[in-house]
Amino acid sequence: MPHDPAQRPVAVVTGGARGIGLAVGRWFLGHGHRVVMLDRDGPTLDAAVAAIGRPDDAIAVHCDVSDEAQVEAAARTVDARFGRVDALVNNAGIAVFEHIQKTTFAQWRAVMATNLDGVFLCTQAFGARMQARGGGAVVNVASISGLRASTMRVAYGTSKAAVIHLTKQQAVELSHFGIRVNAIAPGPVDTAMAKLVHTAAVRADYHDAIPLGRYGAEEEMAEVVGFLCSDAAAYVTGQVVAVDGGFDAAGVGLPTLRRDLGAGR
Ligand code: NDP
Repeated sequence: MPHDPAQRPVAVVTGGARGIGLAVGRWFLGHGHRVVMLDRDGPTLDAAVAAIGRPDDAIAVHCDVSDEAQVEAAARTVDARFGRVDALVNNAGIAVFEHIQKTTFAQWRAVMATNLDGVFLCTQAFGARMQARGGGAVVNVASISGLRASTMRVAYGTSKAAVIHLTKQQAVELSHFGIRVNAIAPGPVDTAMAKLVHTAAVRADYHDAIPLGRYGAEEEMAEVVGFLCSDAAAYVTGQVVAVDGGFDAAGVGLPTLRRDLGAGR
C-alpha cells in the first residue's frame, strides 16, 4: 500500500452508520483504504465515525441515497476532500415486512426509493468519478430475499431482486470503463434491521433453514465485500455471491433429517 496518503484508494460505503455498512468501512480502513461513510442518520453516523478515530482517513457525509441532489452533493464533497473514488459499496437499505395485500403504496415506494433508486443514483454519481480515473469496483448489497420469494417481503424482496438484475446491467455497461460490479446476497445478520423484523420464532425458523445453523456476522459480510472490491477479484464481474450459510443451496433443507444426522454424529 502506498505511504503517500493521496495515493491510497478511497472507498465509499452507504448506510455506514451501523450494521453491515460500518463493518465494511472498518474492513477498508484495515486494508489501507480511506473511507467515506454515507448515511441519512446523521447523529449515529457522526458518532460511529468519531469512534473510529481516524479523521484523516474516515469521513462522515450525511446523505439520503434516494435523493439525487443529495447524492451529487455527496460526490462533490468526496471530490473536494479526497479527489478520487476506487470502490463503492451500495449497502444502505430498509426493510418493510408486511403482507402483500396490506403493503401500502407509500411503503412500497419508500423501499424502492432507498433499496433500488439509491443503488442507481450512487453508482451513476460515484461511477462517473471511477470512470474519470480509469476504473473501480462496486458491490451492491442485495439479500437472499432477492434470490428466493418469501413471506411478507413483496416490497423488500422485489427491490433486492431488482438490485441483482441492476448489478448485472451495471457490470455489462460499466465494463467499458474498467468498473467491475458485483453483489452479495446476505442471509440473516444480527443487525438493528434484523432485530426490528425477526421475532424469536422467525429466528428459530432461520436456524432451521440454514445449513450452517446460525446467523451471519457483519464482519463475515465485510470480508466478502472487501474481496470483491480487491484486485484478487479482478476477473469477477456481474456475479451475486450468497453469503448465507448455505441457505440458497439448501432449498427445503429437511431440518428433521439434518437434526437426526447431527444427533448421529
Ligand atoms: P441497518 O438498518 O442496521 O443499517 C442500515 C443503515 O442505512 C442505517 O443507518 C440506515 O439509516 C441507513 N439508511 C437507510 N436508508 C437510507 C438512505 N435512503 N440513505 C442513506 N442511508 C440510509 O441495516 P443492516 O446493516 O442490517 O443492512 C445493510 C444492508 O444489508 C441493507 O441493504 C439490507 O437490506 C442488507 N441485508 C441485511 C440483512 C440482515 O439480516 N441484517 C440480510 C440481507 C440483506 P436509518 O436508521 O435512518 O434507516
